[in-house]
Amino acid sequence: MRFDDFIGNRRIVERLRAKLRENRFPHGLIFSGPDGVGKYTLAIMVAKALNCRMAQPGEFCDACPSCRKIESGTHPDVMTVSIEEDATQIKIAQVRRILGILDLQPLEGRNKVFIFDPADAINPDASNALLKGLEEPPENSFFILITVNVHELLLTVRSRCQVYNFTPLTLNEIRQHGVTDELMVRWSQGSIGRVRALDMARLKSGREVVLDFFETAVTATEEQFQDLLAVSAEIGRAKQEFESRMTILAILLGDVLYLKEGMPEKIINLDVQDRLSNLSSRASLERLVRMSEFLRTIESSLKSNVNRQMLAEVLAITANETVSDWLEQS
Ligand SMILES: [Zn+2]
Repeated sequence: MRFDDFIGNRRIVERLRAKLRENRFPHGLIFSGPDGVGKYTLAIMVAKALNCRMAQPGEFCDACPSCRKIESGTHPDVMTVSIEEDATQIKIAQVRRILGILDLQPLEGRNKVFIFDPADAINPDASNALLKGLEEPPENSFFILITVNVHELLLTVRSRCQVYNFTPLTLNEIRQHGVTDELMVRWSQGSIGRVRALDMARLKSGREVVLDFFETAVTATEEQFQDLLAVSAEIGRAKQEFESRMTILAILLGDVLYLKEGMPEKIINLDVQDRLSNLSSRASLERLVRMSEFLRTIESSLKSNVNRQMLAEVLAITANETVSDWLEQS
């Protein structure tokens, strides 16, 4: 794979190549953006370009011993620093190891490249230690910090790096990755990494539960209130499942809103469009908006130990006009 084969975020690729060609490559870079859009892949490409002797500046051959070693993670001058097993953060000892070799000449290559992934996991002490490396990096040392959100990094670290903000891939870019199943393309949410991890059978069965919940919530009458609570209990069962179901619900809700606004081409769940259309004609816009507002509340309260069944019940009631009117009156 070469720079030309990198799919998505082309402006970033070309900016980096221009800097490589002009031989004014920044010593500190931050690649910020959603998971699964190729930030690490591009960092590895940059490391290859900084070391390959077989290609023009701004390019790499991907075939020489240097490129192959970088690809397999065995090049002594290109290191990826990540969270060690049984740890939750990147520790100061890991950063000190890098600082210890910073002033040494590269062992094999032209340049040393240190990739921190995920850089937001570098603990504060380690970040402060890293600053020393970023402040006066030797001519042949480069740091690439990879993060989902640049604002998770210390301001002092950020200010010493050039920040590249990656965006999600377009549907077409996901297709260019060879994804042919249209439902998978749309569920990618712009992340090829997410597509590769998608278990469609599991996703569909989870979605079925959520759709049932959504439909029951929107259509239940006063008499069916007990049914509604039963479905809510099913939704609120396990913590991890609850979270993934709320994510699915948010996506379904988005689709219903698109249908309501007359933009069917934007929906993700093409295969259940009929059911979603039905929901969009049954639920008022006000209800749907209230539901999505409540979903946001759920998202923020998930970090604390909340009663999930209760949240699901309130959500269901929020979606249901009859029951909520009846509750308000009683
Ligand atoms: Zn090469």
